[in-house]
Amino acid sequence: MPKANETVLEINLAALKENYLYLKSKISSNTKFLAVVKAYAYGNNTDELATYLENLGVDYFAVAYTSEGISLRNAGIKKPILVLHPQIVSFNLLIEYNLEPNLYSRKILNEFIEQVELVKKKDYPIHLKFNTGLNRLGFSLNDTSYIAKTLKKTKAIKVKSIFSHLAASEDLNEQSFTQAQISSFKTITNDLINLIGYQPILHLCNTSGILNYPEAHFNMVRSGIGLYGYGNSVRENQNLKPIGTLKTIISQIHTLRKGESVGYNRGYISNSALKTATLPIGHADGIGRQYGNEKGYVIINNQKAPIIGNVCMDMIMVNVTEINCNEGDEVIIFGPNNTAENFAKTANTISYEILTSLSQRIKRVYL
Ligand code: PLP
Repeated sequence: MPKANETVLEINLAALKENYLYLKSKISSNTKFLAVVKAYAYGNNTDELATYLENLGVDYFAVAYTSEGISLRNAGIKKPILVLHPQIVSFNLLIEYNLEPNLYSRKILNEFIEQVELVKKKDYPIHLKFNTGLNRLGFSLNDTSYIAKTLKKTKAIKVKSIFSHLAASEDLNEQSFTQAQISSFKTITNDLINLIGYQPILHLCNTSGILNYPEAHFNMVRSGIGLYGYGNSVRENQNLKPIGTLKTIISQIHTLRKGESVGYNRGYISNSALKTATLPIGHADGIGRQYGNEKGYVIINNQKAPIIGNVCMDMIMVNVTEINCNEGDEVIIFGPNNTAENFAKTANTISYEILTSLSQRIKRVYL
């Protein structure tokens, strides 16, 4: 791997392929694979990754918002794109860019039908989401006859899929809760399919669901974090490879005397002679203040260097008293050997948050 000479997120596309093939090996050959590429493909940048994934053969993409779907279309993505949380104000653009909305409430269903009728389209593909326990977005279990009646009154839309989302697929102590979600999903989909008279695609599982509930794969699975190399437990992580390595360099080294302080608010006071390294990455890049004050650490020449004092907007300072290093040396913030998950844990958060927080000003390099 090339040595960093500035802050970069290196993205290993071969690892992305391996993760995809591993997750594919867990599903049957007639189960479709949807790649969740919202939030810049979990910080890795959507256009490049989606193009790569499309070439690998994924069947579907999902993003959160219409603007993300438009960006994918502008990047040349041809596969269907599910918009998980479309806003009513964006419906006209969503249709113009041939994106497929998740319709999750009576209001949003009716608003969408009205918009499609206005532009005189027929059988526009939509996805119906049911709430089976996450209590976030979704129709309730007793909405099926309302939906069926509404669909009978219009030719504007056609149900491409019915789906729901698991609340705790990673938590094996919550198996009975997850089984109850799976069984509600079966009841709803049987009910609705009987009422509408055709069989849409059914999907329920995210990455942990794929790995832990093979009986619930239905016709499609939706993976985000797994593609990027993380599961939600040591067991799930075993066969996945983190695709991103966040690197930077040492801008300056200082030698301080006992009693001198480091950074804003004099957040760290040295109690002995101290060598510090200043790195060009800060909270504006996604390394939040919660990593400061010796919570997080980085790796310099294979050794741990704790982040000391308060995280600044564009810089952090680390303690390198015991480390043999020089200005210009490479620093690893996270990567396959010091995972984003471990780094996130130091600030009491999860890999999802650190990955999606990485700012757009960090250069992405694809290997
Ligand atoms: N499906 C839905 C509806 C989601 O919101 C997400 C992510 O938040 C996923 C699938 C992908 O989940 P994971 O990244 O855990 O695979």
